Amino acid sequence: MEDCIFCKIVRGEIPTKKVYEDERVLAFYDVAPQAPVHVLIVPKAHSQDLLDSRALDDALLAHLLRTAAEVAVMLGLDKTGFRIVSNCGEDGRQSVKHLHIHLLGGQKLSERMS
Ligand code: AMP
Repeated sequence: MEDCIFCKIVRGEIPTKKVYEDERVLAFYDVAPQAPVHVLIVPKAHSQDLLDSRALDDALLAHLLRTAAEVAVMLGLDKTGFRIVSNCGEDGRQSVKHLHIHLLGGQKLSERMS
């Protein structure tokens, strides 16, 4: 999508620190980290969120989740643990309307998730 920040990152129009990339997904460091390790994993094809029918390709969703786990291993988080989150809609406080998974770790995270 023309005006979507993450689509611009995927197209290389906005610089970012990439962690992993293949033909279907991209992982890059969050610009405003909320943990010592904070990576975003996004599908390259635009879809708004988990409710968007364009996101409901089972293989892509599985690959997105698998990539989050693989990036966690790449960054050594498998030894200590991590959290993955996907915010959706207003109450979920989703600020970028392009489906993404947050991967957070590098410290003991808050007990609360809300
Ligand atoms: P959410 O609030 O779940 O939609 O998360 C969007 C995330 O994107 C936030 O954690 C932002 O800090 C992050 N973000 C926004 N713009 C950029 C960017 N240009 N590069 C990396 N992360 C970004």
